[in-house]
Amino acid sequence: MLSKAPKGTKDILPQETHLWQHIEDTIREVTRAYGYREIRTPVFEHTELFQRGVGETTDIVQKEMYTFLDKANRSLTLKPEGTAGAARAYIEHKLYADTQPVKMYYITPCYRYEQPQAGRQREFHQFGVEAFGAPQASVDVEIISLAMNLFKKLGIKDLSVKINSIGCPKCRPAYHENLKSYLAKDLDSLCNTCKERFEKNPLRILDCKAEGCQPVIKNAPHMLDHLCEECSSHFEDVKRFLKAAGFDYNIDPMIVRGLDYYTKTVFEIISDSIGAQSTVCGGGRYDGLVEEFGGPNVPGVGFGLGLERLLLVLESQNIKLPEPEPCSIYFVTVGKEAREKAFELVQKLRGLGVFSDMDHVGRSVKAQFKYANKTGARYVGTIGEDELAEGKLALREMDTGKEEKVAFKDIADFFITR
Ligand code: ATP
Ligand code: MG
Repeated sequence: MLSKAPKGTKDILPQETHLWQHIEDTIREVTRAYGYREIRTPVFEHTELFQRGVGETTDIVQKEMYTFLDKANRSLTLKPEGTAGAARAYIEHKLYADTQPVKMYYITPCYRYEQPQAGRQREFHQFGVEAFGAPQASVDVEIISLAMNLFKKLGIKDLSVKINSIGCPKCRPAYHENLKSYLAKDLDSLCNTCKERFEKNPLRILDCKAEGCQPVIKNAPHMLDHLCEECSSHFEDVKRFLKAAGFDYNIDPMIVRGLDYYTKTVFEIISDSIGAQSTVCGGGRYDGLVEEFGGPNVPGVGFGLGLERLLLVLESQNIKLPEPEPCSIYFVTVGKEAREKAFELVQKLRGLGVFSDMDHVGRSVKAQFKYANKTGARYVGTIGEDELAEGKLALREMDTGKEEKVAFKDIADFFITR
Protein backbone atom coordinates (compact mmCIF):
# COMPACT_ATOMS: atom_id res chain seq x y z
CA MET A 1 0.00 0.00 0.00
CA LEU A 2 2.62 2.51 1.07
CA SER A 3 4.73 2.05 -2.02
CA LYS A 4 2.00 1.79 -4.62
CA ALA A 5 -0.14 4.64 -5.98
CA PRO A 6 -3.93 4.07 -6.06
CA LYS A 7 -5.30 2.11 -9.04
CA GLY A 8 -5.83 4.23 -12.12
CA THR A 9 -3.41 6.98 -11.09
CA LYS A 10 0.04 7.60 -12.49
CA ASP A 11 3.03 9.52 -11.21
CA ILE A 12 4.58 11.90 -13.67
CA LEU A 13 8.28 11.56 -12.90
CA PRO A 14 11.06 14.17 -13.16
CA GLN A 15 12.45 12.45 -16.26
CA GLU A 16 9.16 12.95 -18.12
CA THR A 17 7.82 16.27 -16.83
CA HIS A 18 9.61 18.14 -19.61
CA LEU A 19 7.20 16.46 -22.07
CA TRP A 20 4.22 17.72 -20.09
CA GLN A 21 5.76 21.16 -19.83
CA HIS A 22 6.35 21.22 -23.58
CA ILE A 23 2.68 20.42 -24.17
CA GLU A 24 1.59 22.98 -21.59
CA ASP A 25 3.86 25.66 -23.07
CA THR A 26 2.42 24.94 -26.52
CA ILE A 27 -1.11 25.17 -25.10
CA ARG A 28 -0.31 28.57 -23.59
CA GLU A 29 1.17 29.76 -26.87
CA VAL A 30 -1.86 28.66 -28.89
CA THR A 31 -4.56 29.86 -26.47
CA ARG A 32 -2.84 33.24 -26.34
CA ALA A 33 -3.14 33.64 -30.09
CA TYR A 34 -6.87 32.87 -29.88
CA GLY A 35 -7.49 35.22 -26.95
CA TYR A 36 -8.32 32.58 -24.32
CA ARG A 37 -7.17 33.25 -20.76
CA GLU A 38 -6.59 30.73 -18.02
CA ILE A 39 -9.14 29.98 -15.31
CA ARG A 40 -8.32 27.82 -12.28
CA THR A 41 -11.22 26.38 -10.35
CA PRO A 42 -11.22 24.06 -7.30
CA VAL A 43 -10.53 20.36 -7.69
CA PHE A 44 -13.75 19.65 -5.77
CA GLU A 45 -17.19 21.20 -6.09
CA HIS A 46 -20.64 20.60 -4.59
CA THR A 47 -21.83 17.25 -5.93
CA GLU A 48 -25.03 18.82 -7.20
CA LEU A 49 -23.11 20.99 -9.64
CA PHE A 50 -22.03 17.92 -11.61
CA GLN A 51 -25.37 16.16 -11.19
CA ARG A 52 -27.04 19.17 -12.81
CA GLY A 53 -24.30 20.22 -15.19
CA VAL A 54 -23.05 16.88 -16.49
CA GLY A 55 -26.47 15.27 -16.24
CA GLU A 56 -28.15 12.55 -14.19
CA THR A 57 -28.32 10.11 -17.10
CA THR A 58 -24.65 10.19 -17.99
CA ASP A 59 -22.12 7.47 -17.19
CA ILE A 60 -20.09 10.08 -15.34
CA VAL A 61 -22.83 10.89 -12.83
CA GLN A 62 -24.27 7.41 -12.61
CA LYS A 63 -21.04 5.45 -12.22
CA GLU A 64 -17.86 7.42 -12.34
CA MET A 65 -17.82 10.22 -9.75
CA TYR A 66 -15.53 10.40 -6.75
CA THR A 67 -18.07 11.66 -4.24
CA PHE A 68 -17.46 12.02 -0.50
CA LEU A 69 -18.85 13.72 2.58
CA ASP A 70 -16.61 16.25 4.27
CA LYS A 71 -16.46 16.65 8.05
CA ALA A 72 -19.53 18.91 8.01
CA ASN A 73 -21.50 16.34 5.99
CA ARG A 74 -21.43 18.27 2.73
CA SER A 75 -21.46 16.11 -0.34
CA LEU A 76 -18.49 17.07 -2.49
CA THR A 77 -17.15 15.56 -5.72
CA LEU A 78 -13.72 15.63 -7.33
CA LYS A 79 -14.15 17.28 -10.72
CA PRO A 80 -14.81 14.70 -13.45
CA GLU A 81 -14.55 17.43 -16.14
CA GLY A 82 -13.82 21.13 -16.36
CA THR A 83 -16.88 22.82 -17.81
CA ALA A 84 -19.20 22.75 -14.79
CA GLY A 85 -16.68 24.52 -12.53
CA ALA A 86 -15.91 27.13 -15.19
CA ALA A 87 -19.62 27.82 -15.73
CA ARG A 88 -20.18 28.06 -11.97
CA ALA A 89 -17.31 30.56 -11.67
CA TYR A 90 -18.67 32.54 -14.65
CA ILE A 91 -21.96 32.97 -12.79
CA GLU A 92 -20.57 33.40 -9.28
CA HIS A 93 -18.22 36.21 -10.35
CA LYS A 94 -20.79 37.75 -12.69
CA LEU A 95 -18.44 37.46 -15.66
CA TYR A 96 -21.60 37.70 -17.81
CA ALA A 97 -21.68 41.39 -16.90
CA ASP A 98 -18.27 41.92 -18.55
CA THR A 99 -17.81 42.40 -22.28
CA GLN A 100 -18.72 39.14 -24.03
CA PRO A 101 -17.60 36.63 -25.01
CA VAL A 102 -15.56 35.47 -22.03
CA LYS A 103 -12.96 33.07 -23.43
CA MET A 104 -11.16 30.85 -20.96
CA TYR A 105 -9.00 27.75 -20.86
CA TYR A 106 -7.88 25.38 -18.16
CA ILE A 107 -5.38 22.59 -17.63
CA THR A 108 -6.65 20.45 -14.80
CA PRO A 109 -6.62 16.97 -13.29
CA CYS A 110 -9.98 15.17 -13.59
CA TYR A 111 -11.28 12.18 -11.65
CA ARG A 112 -13.48 9.38 -12.93
CA TYR A 113 -13.96 5.93 -11.41
CA GLU A 114 -13.41 3.88 -14.56
CA GLN A 115 -11.73 0.61 -15.50
CA PRO A 116 -8.11 1.68 -16.14
CA GLN A 117 -6.63 0.77 -19.53
CA ALA A 118 -4.42 2.46 -22.12
CA GLY A 119 -5.63 6.06 -22.40
CA ARG A 120 -8.12 5.61 -19.57
CA GLN A 121 -7.21 6.46 -16.00
CA ARG A 122 -8.99 7.41 -12.78
CA GLU A 123 -6.94 10.54 -12.42
CA PHE A 124 -6.20 12.10 -15.79
CA HIS A 125 -5.59 15.56 -17.16
CA GLN A 126 -7.61 17.73 -19.46
CA PHE A 127 -6.87 20.85 -21.38
CA GLY A 128 -10.18 22.54 -22.07
CA VAL A 129 -11.54 25.80 -23.42
CA GLU A 130 -14.85 27.54 -22.80
CA ALA A 131 -16.32 30.54 -24.60
CA PHE A 132 -19.39 31.99 -22.92
CA GLY A 133 -21.65 34.60 -24.42
CA ALA A 134 -21.04 33.93 -28.12
CA PRO A 135 -23.99 32.39 -30.01
CA GLN A 136 -22.45 32.39 -33.49
CA ALA A 137 -21.14 29.34 -35.32
CA SER A 138 -17.79 31.01 -35.98
CA VAL A 139 -16.85 30.44 -32.35
CA ASP A 140 -17.73 26.72 -32.60
CA VAL A 141 -15.20 26.52 -35.42
CA GLU A 142 -12.74 28.80 -33.62
CA ILE A 143 -12.33 26.22 -30.86
CA ILE A 144 -12.02 23.32 -33.31
CA SER A 145 -9.36 25.37 -35.07
CA LEU A 146 -7.63 26.06 -31.75
CA ALA A 147 -7.40 22.32 -30.99
CA MET A 148 -6.21 21.52 -34.52
CA ASN A 149 -3.62 24.27 -34.32
CA LEU A 150 -2.32 22.81 -31.07
CA PHE A 151 -1.99 19.38 -32.71
CA LYS A 152 -0.22 20.93 -35.68
CA LYS A 153 2.25 22.83 -33.49
CA LEU A 154 3.02 19.59 -31.65
CA GLY A 155 3.68 17.84 -34.97
CA ILE A 156 0.67 15.51 -34.83
CA LYS A 157 -0.77 14.28 -38.12
CA ASP A 158 -3.69 12.24 -39.31
CA LEU A 159 -6.42 13.54 -37.07
CA SER A 160 -9.98 13.67 -38.22
CA VAL A 161 -12.76 16.00 -37.17
CA LYS A 162 -16.26 14.61 -36.81
CA ILE A 163 -19.20 16.91 -36.35
CA ASN A 164 -22.89 16.57 -35.68
CA SER A 165 -25.76 18.63 -34.35
CA ILE A 166 -27.96 17.35 -31.56
CA GLY A 167 -30.54 20.12 -31.82
CA CYS A 168 -31.99 22.16 -29.01
CA PRO A 169 -34.87 21.98 -26.51
CA LYS A 170 -37.15 23.19 -29.32
CA CYS A 171 -36.51 20.44 -31.83
CA ARG A 172 -35.11 17.59 -29.74
CA PRO A 173 -38.33 16.50 -27.97
CA ALA A 174 -40.12 15.72 -31.25
CA TYR A 175 -37.07 13.83 -32.49
CA HIS A 176 -36.92 11.94 -29.17
CA GLU A 177 -40.48 10.73 -29.77
CA ASN A 178 -39.60 9.73 -33.30
CA LEU A 179 -36.50 7.87 -32.10
CA LYS A 180 -38.44 6.19 -29.31
CA SER A 181 -41.12 4.89 -31.61
CA TYR A 182 -38.37 3.46 -33.84
CA LEU A 183 -36.55 1.88 -30.88
CA ALA A 184 -39.72 0.58 -29.20
CA LYS A 185 -40.05 -2.22 -31.76
CA ASP A 186 -36.64 -3.64 -30.82
CA LEU A 187 -36.46 -2.65 -27.18
CA ASP A 188 -36.01 -6.27 -26.07
CA SER A 189 -32.84 -6.70 -28.09
CA LEU A 190 -31.12 -3.66 -26.54
CA CYS A 191 -28.70 -3.92 -23.60
CA ASN A 192 -29.91 -3.12 -20.08
CA THR A 193 -28.24 0.28 -20.00
CA CYS A 194 -30.01 1.22 -23.24
CA LYS A 195 -33.33 0.02 -21.85
CA GLU A 196 -32.85 2.51 -19.02
CA ARG A 197 -31.79 5.23 -21.46
CA PHE A 198 -34.92 4.64 -23.51
CA GLU A 199 -37.10 6.56 -21.06
CA LYS A 200 -34.62 9.08 -19.68
CA ASN A 201 -32.43 10.01 -22.63
CA PRO A 202 -32.99 7.95 -25.79
CA LEU A 203 -30.44 9.99 -27.78
CA ARG A 204 -27.69 8.45 -25.69
CA ILE A 205 -28.57 4.99 -27.10
CA LEU A 206 -26.91 6.03 -30.37
CA ASP A 207 -23.65 6.24 -28.46
CA CYS A 208 -23.84 2.66 -27.11
CA LYS A 209 -20.83 0.51 -27.90
CA ALA A 210 -22.49 -2.86 -27.06
CA GLU A 211 -22.33 -5.33 -29.94
CA GLY A 212 -25.97 -6.41 -29.61
CA CYS A 213 -27.30 -2.85 -29.93
CA GLN A 214 -25.50 -2.06 -33.18
CA PRO A 215 -28.03 -3.50 -35.68
CA VAL A 216 -30.79 -1.41 -34.11
CA ILE A 217 -28.67 1.73 -33.82
CA LYS A 218 -27.50 1.48 -37.42
CA ASN A 219 -30.88 2.29 -38.91
CA ALA A 220 -32.12 4.72 -36.27
CA PRO A 221 -33.41 8.13 -37.39
CA HIS A 222 -30.91 10.97 -37.09
CA MET A 223 -31.31 14.24 -35.21
CA LEU A 224 -29.78 15.95 -38.24
CA ASP A 225 -32.94 15.22 -40.22
CA HIS A 226 -35.11 16.79 -37.53
CA LEU A 227 -33.35 20.05 -36.77
CA CYS A 228 -35.43 23.19 -36.39
CA GLU A 229 -34.77 26.18 -38.62
CA GLU A 230 -32.40 27.81 -36.13
CA CYS A 231 -30.31 24.67 -35.44
CA SER A 232 -30.22 23.80 -39.10
CA SER A 233 -28.91 27.18 -40.13
CA HIS A 234 -26.38 27.11 -37.28
CA PHE A 235 -25.12 23.74 -38.55
CA GLU A 236 -24.82 25.10 -42.09
CA ASP A 237 -22.78 28.00 -40.71
CA VAL A 238 -20.48 25.61 -38.84
CA LYS A 239 -19.82 23.76 -42.09
CA ARG A 240 -19.18 27.02 -43.92
CA PHE A 241 -16.67 28.24 -41.33
CA LEU A 242 -14.93 24.85 -41.30
CA LYS A 243 -14.53 25.17 -45.03
CA ALA A 244 -13.29 28.75 -44.73
CA ALA A 245 -10.70 27.57 -42.18
CA GLY A 246 -9.62 24.82 -44.56
CA PHE A 247 -10.51 21.85 -42.35
CA ASP A 248 -11.69 18.52 -43.67
CA TYR A 249 -14.43 17.02 -41.59
CA ASN A 250 -16.93 14.19 -41.55
CA ILE A 251 -20.50 14.44 -40.46
CA ASP A 252 -21.18 11.65 -37.99
CA PRO A 253 -24.84 11.54 -36.93
CA MET A 254 -23.92 9.06 -34.18
CA ILE A 255 -21.87 11.47 -32.09
CA VAL A 256 -24.03 12.52 -29.20
CA ARG A 257 -21.31 13.16 -26.59
CA GLY A 258 -21.24 11.92 -23.03
CA LEU A 259 -22.58 15.00 -21.31
CA ASP A 260 -26.22 16.08 -21.06
CA TYR A 261 -25.86 19.81 -21.48
CA TYR A 262 -24.92 19.91 -25.15
CA THR A 263 -27.07 21.70 -27.74
CA LYS A 264 -26.52 22.15 -31.46
CA THR A 265 -22.89 21.47 -32.42
CA VAL A 266 -21.06 18.45 -31.05
CA PHE A 267 -17.68 17.35 -32.32
CA GLU A 268 -14.87 14.92 -31.74
CA ILE A 269 -11.29 14.88 -32.90
CA ILE A 270 -10.11 11.34 -33.46
CA SER A 271 -6.72 9.74 -33.86
CA ASP A 272 -6.48 6.39 -35.55
CA SER A 273 -3.06 5.73 -34.09
CA ILE A 274 -4.00 4.97 -30.47
CA GLY A 275 -6.48 2.11 -30.67
CA ALA A 276 -9.76 1.90 -28.83
CA GLN A 277 -9.51 5.12 -26.82
CA SER A 278 -9.32 7.12 -30.03
CA THR A 279 -11.17 10.31 -29.06
CA VAL A 280 -8.52 12.82 -28.11
CA CYS A 281 -10.78 15.85 -27.97
CA GLY A 282 -14.52 16.15 -27.55
CA GLY A 283 -16.64 19.23 -27.34
CA GLY A 284 -19.57 21.23 -28.50
CA ARG A 285 -22.10 23.86 -27.67
CA TYR A 286 -24.07 24.04 -24.42
CA ASP A 287 -26.40 26.96 -24.68
CA GLY A 288 -28.55 25.84 -21.76
CA LEU A 289 -25.89 25.28 -19.14
CA VAL A 290 -25.43 28.72 -17.56
CA GLU A 291 -29.17 29.12 -17.16
CA GLU A 292 -29.43 25.58 -15.79
CA PHE A 293 -27.06 26.73 -13.01
CA GLY A 294 -29.24 29.72 -12.18
CA GLY A 295 -27.37 32.26 -14.31
CA PRO A 296 -28.72 34.31 -17.20
CA ASN A 297 -29.55 32.79 -20.57
CA VAL A 298 -26.03 32.81 -22.01
CA PRO A 299 -24.70 30.46 -24.69
CA GLY A 300 -21.52 28.47 -24.24
CA VAL A 301 -19.20 26.35 -26.31
CA GLY A 302 -16.08 24.40 -25.41
CA PHE A 303 -14.06 21.22 -25.52
CA GLY A 304 -12.10 18.88 -23.29
CA LEU A 305 -8.89 17.34 -24.56
CA GLY A 306 -7.24 14.43 -22.75
CA LEU A 307 -3.54 15.08 -22.21
CA GLU A 308 -2.65 11.42 -21.54
CA ARG A 309 -4.22 10.51 -24.88
CA LEU A 310 -2.40 13.37 -26.55
CA LEU A 311 0.87 11.93 -25.23
CA LEU A 312 -0.10 8.49 -26.55
CA VAL A 313 -0.63 9.99 -29.99
CA LEU A 314 2.74 11.76 -29.84
CA GLU A 315 4.39 8.48 -28.85
CA SER A 316 2.61 6.38 -31.45
CA GLN A 317 3.57 8.81 -34.21
CA ASN A 318 7.19 8.81 -33.00
CA ILE A 319 7.23 12.56 -32.70
CA LYS A 320 10.47 13.87 -31.31
CA LEU A 321 9.94 16.24 -28.44
CA PRO A 322 12.53 18.60 -26.99
CA GLU A 323 15.00 17.06 -24.54
CA PRO A 324 15.32 18.56 -21.05
CA GLU A 325 17.84 21.38 -20.86
CA PRO A 326 21.34 20.16 -19.90
CA CYS A 327 23.50 21.71 -17.21
CA SER A 328 25.58 24.62 -18.57
CA ILE A 329 28.52 23.95 -16.29
CA TYR A 330 29.34 21.12 -13.94
CA PHE A 331 32.19 21.74 -11.49
CA VAL A 332 34.65 18.94 -10.87
CA THR A 333 36.69 19.56 -7.74
CA VAL A 334 39.76 18.12 -6.05
CA GLY A 335 39.89 18.74 -2.31
CA LYS A 336 37.92 20.61 0.31
CA GLU A 337 39.01 24.12 -0.57
CA ALA A 338 38.19 23.61 -4.27
CA ARG A 339 34.72 22.38 -3.31
CA GLU A 340 34.11 25.59 -1.38
CA LYS A 341 35.29 27.68 -4.33
CA ALA A 342 33.02 25.71 -6.68
CA PHE A 343 30.11 26.19 -4.31
CA GLU A 344 30.72 29.94 -4.33
CA LEU A 345 30.81 30.02 -8.16
CA VAL A 346 27.73 27.79 -8.54
CA GLN A 347 25.92 30.09 -6.17
CA LYS A 348 26.85 33.13 -8.25
CA LEU A 349 25.94 31.52 -11.59
CA ARG A 350 22.59 30.23 -10.34
CA GLY A 351 21.77 33.70 -9.07
CA LEU A 352 22.19 34.83 -12.68
CA GLY A 353 19.96 32.02 -13.95
CA VAL A 354 22.77 29.84 -15.33
CA PHE A 355 22.05 26.12 -14.78
CA SER A 356 25.17 24.99 -12.91
CA ASP A 357 25.90 22.12 -10.57
CA MET A 358 28.52 20.26 -8.57
CA ASP A 359 28.97 17.01 -6.69
CA HIS A 360 27.10 16.46 -3.42
CA VAL A 361 27.71 12.77 -2.84
CA GLY A 362 31.49 12.58 -2.41
CA ARG A 363 32.37 11.13 -5.84
CA SER A 364 35.99 10.65 -6.88
CA VAL A 365 37.34 13.05 -9.51
CA LYS A 366 36.96 10.35 -12.17
CA ALA A 367 33.37 9.68 -11.12
CA GLN A 368 32.57 13.40 -11.18
CA PHE A 369 33.71 13.55 -14.83
CA LYS A 370 31.66 10.49 -15.62
CA TYR A 371 28.60 12.06 -14.02
CA ALA A 372 29.08 15.30 -15.99
CA ASN A 373 29.31 13.30 -19.20
CA LYS A 374 26.29 11.17 -18.45
CA THR A 375 24.07 14.15 -17.62
CA GLY A 376 25.13 15.96 -20.80
CA ALA A 377 26.74 19.00 -19.15
CA ARG A 378 27.86 21.49 -21.80
CA TYR A 379 31.00 22.54 -19.92
CA VAL A 380 33.03 21.01 -17.13
CA GLY A 381 34.95 23.38 -14.90
CA THR A 382 37.77 21.74 -12.96
CA ILE A 383 39.21 23.23 -9.80
CA GLY A 384 42.28 21.68 -8.14
CA GLU A 385 45.29 23.06 -6.28
CA ASP A 386 46.81 24.73 -9.38
CA GLU A 387 43.57 26.44 -10.35
CA LEU A 388 43.12 27.74 -6.80
CA ALA A 389 46.63 29.15 -6.84
CA GLU A 390 46.09 30.77 -10.26
CA GLY A 391 42.58 32.01 -9.52
CA LYS A 392 41.47 30.38 -12.76
CA LEU A 393 39.19 27.57 -13.78
CA ALA A 394 40.11 24.84 -16.28
CA LEU A 395 37.08 24.92 -18.55
CA ARG A 396 36.35 22.17 -21.03
CA GLU A 397 33.65 22.33 -23.66
CA MET A 398 32.32 18.78 -23.72
CA ASP A 399 31.13 18.69 -27.33
CA THR A 400 34.37 19.89 -28.87
CA GLY A 401 36.89 18.97 -26.20
CA LYS A 402 38.21 22.53 -26.39
CA GLU A 403 39.93 23.66 -23.18
CA GLU A 404 40.67 27.11 -21.85
CA LYS A 405 41.42 28.86 -18.59
CA VAL A 406 38.89 31.37 -17.31
CA ALA A 407 39.47 33.54 -14.25
CA PHE A 408 37.04 32.85 -11.40
CA LYS A 409 35.96 36.46 -11.53
CA ASP A 410 35.13 36.22 -15.26
CA ILE A 411 33.11 33.03 -15.16
CA ALA A 412 29.73 34.76 -14.87
CA ASP A 413 30.48 36.93 -17.93
CA PHE A 414 31.59 33.86 -19.83
CA PHE A 415 28.21 32.19 -19.38
CA ILE A 416 25.85 35.08 -19.68
CA THR A 417 27.38 36.11 -22.97
CA ARG A 418 26.80 32.74 -24.61
P1 ATP B 1 -14.65 8.29 -23.72
O1 ATP B 1 -15.76 8.05 -24.68
O2 ATP B 1 -13.31 7.93 -24.23
O3 ATP B 1 -14.94 7.75 -22.34
P2 ATP B 1 -15.74 10.79 -22.86
O4 ATP B 1 -16.80 11.11 -23.83
O5 ATP B 1 -16.10 10.21 -21.54
O6 ATP B 1 -14.60 9.88 -23.54
P3 ATP B 1 -15.20 13.57 -22.34
O7 ATP B 1 -16.03 13.63 -21.13
O8 ATP B 1 -15.66 14.23 -23.56
O9 ATP B 1 -14.80 12.05 -22.66
O10 ATP B 1 -13.73 14.10 -22.00
C1 ATP B 1 -12.92 14.76 -22.97
C2 ATP B 1 -11.63 14.01 -23.22
O11 ATP B 1 -11.00 13.63 -22.00
C3 ATP B 1 -11.78 12.69 -23.96
O12 ATP B 1 -11.89 12.89 -25.33
C4 ATP B 1 -10.50 11.97 -23.60
O13 ATP B 1 -9.43 12.44 -24.40
C5 ATP B 1 -10.26 12.42 -22.18
N1 ATP B 1 -10.73 11.42 -21.20
C6 ATP B 1 -11.99 11.16 -20.80
N2 ATP B 1 -12.02 10.21 -19.86
C7 ATP B 1 -10.72 9.85 -19.65
C8 ATP B 1 -10.06 8.92 -18.77
N3 ATP B 1 -10.74 8.18 -17.91
N4 ATP B 1 -8.71 8.83 -18.83
C9 ATP B 1 -7.99 9.59 -19.69
N5 ATP B 1 -8.55 10.48 -20.54
C10 ATP B 1 -9.88 10.62 -20.51
MG1 MG C 1 -16.12 8.30 -20.74
